[in-house]
Amino acid sequence: MSMTVDRMQIEALVRSAIRQAQSQGAPAAHQASSTSIESPLGWVDGKPNLRVSISARHCHLTDEHVEILFGKGSVLEPDKDLYQDGFFAAKQTVMVVGPRRRMLPSVRVLGPTRPFSQLELAFTDSISLGIKAPVRHSGKIEGTPGCVLVGPAGSVQLDQGVIRAARHVHMNDHDAAHFGVANGDMMQLVVTSNDCSMTFDDVLVRADKAAKLEVHIDTDEGNACNLDAASAVHLQPMPKPCACGH
Ligand SMILES: [Zn+2]
Repeated sequence: MSMTVDRMQIEALVRSAIRQAQSQGAPAAHQASSTSIESPLGWVDGKPNLRVSISARHCHLTDEHVEILFGKGSVLEPDKDLYQDGFFAAKQTVMVVGPRRRMLPSVRVLGPTRPFSQLELAFTDSISLGIKAPVRHSGKIEGTPGCVLVGPAGSVQLDQGVIRAARHVHMNDHDAAHFGVANGDMMQLVVTSNDCSMTFDDVLVRADKAAKLEVHIDTDEGNACNLDAASAVHLQPMPKPCACGH
């Protein structure tokens, strides 16, 4: 999508919104649970400890874009640690401007910085912004729409990078062995919730050495099953299609 936003319009939007954007709180981050030395990372009582987290709209930035948006020499300042070690919600937020000057005034930046900038929205966010965000796995941004990001020191036009992040599960090799899955496999997440239980198919396994077992879904998915009030969550490999053809 090609899109230009008049600089005057952006500056007017900045003046009206940046103070509000900066005064808003960070999204909830989960506390790390205690782990013992013998146990694989994130395990509790000798078992994987499944955590399901709602990943609210956020953006990832390059070092270059951090300096453009927040001023020369700026770096991301950690505000809250995320459950995955080394990742954090930054103090900084950006304003996102879409076509026809629709905007999201305060989108949290997650760190550390990345080789490319990317905006991750739920469908509802993308409707508010007037951008058709395709469902993509993180980093697969070829041919996706762009937007304008606005910070206190400047703005950046992204030619691509606006996505709805596809649901996925982070895990380490011990978790993968426990479930009998490998990096790139698909799993099912079963959420038991009063009057709105749901099974999510197509949960991509992202396995590496350092990850802790954690499913990431977006706010629309989390709200649909009232995740905060769920009585149980369960993760299992996707059922194999029946070999008999029925
Ligand atoms: Zn994730």
